[in-house]
Amino acid sequence: MSARHAVSDDRLIAYAAGTLSPPEAVVVATHLALRPRSEDVLRALTHVAGDALEDLAPEPLSADALDQALARAEADGGEAEALPPLNDMPELPAPLRRYALGPWRWMGPGVRVRDVLGPRDGDCRVILLKIEPGRSTPRHTHGGVEVTCVLSGAYATDDERFDVGDIEEADDHTLHQPRVVSSEACLCVAALDGQILLPGLLGRLMQPFVRL
Ligand code: ZN
Repeated sequence: MSARHAVSDDRLIAYAAGTLSPPEAVVVATHLALRPRSEDVLRALTHVAGDALEDLAPEPLSADALDQALARAEADGGEAEALPPLNDMPELPAPLRRYALGPWRWMGPGVRVRDVLGPRDGDCRVILLKIEPGRSTPRHTHGGVEVTCVLSGAYATDDERFDVGDIEEADDHTLHQPRVVSSEACLCVAALDGQILLPGLLGRLMQPFVRL
């Protein structure tokens, strides 16, 4: 069993405080939906949300400010089940069922991508990636943030493995090549800012054909 990759404290704070960009919030809500919240995690969320609200609030907090932040987190993570689903993928966790989806697009051998329509913040948007067993994305870095959560299957980078519910937080300092290591295809949701960037001469030649 690999170490579990949870969302970083910084992102959890921003999520709980309602300041995380909408695309990243969708991925964090999905991550929380896949990891049933233990009392410890709930306590930690309460703690970080409280700290974040103290940092943000110019006035003393109202008594229910933290309750409101937690209710927002709950609404993003859980109550989506009450909304009518808008897409054709019943296997998706509740936070993703509320969005319409674009058509599957081919991105390379064994790699397909599909837009999650709605949550955007400038060039940052949400996509679904489906990669077949044994296949990988091109080795790449990123124009901005890339926050990925595994929905089914598993993938590995050079030194880490990501299973269902795990989150990978990458940015322009990260060079990686996720490769599927499960016997089933790996389905992921990602918030991606800009395009992935392929290094080297071959990468520059391939770049126009690799559009996420
Ligand atoms: Zn990446």
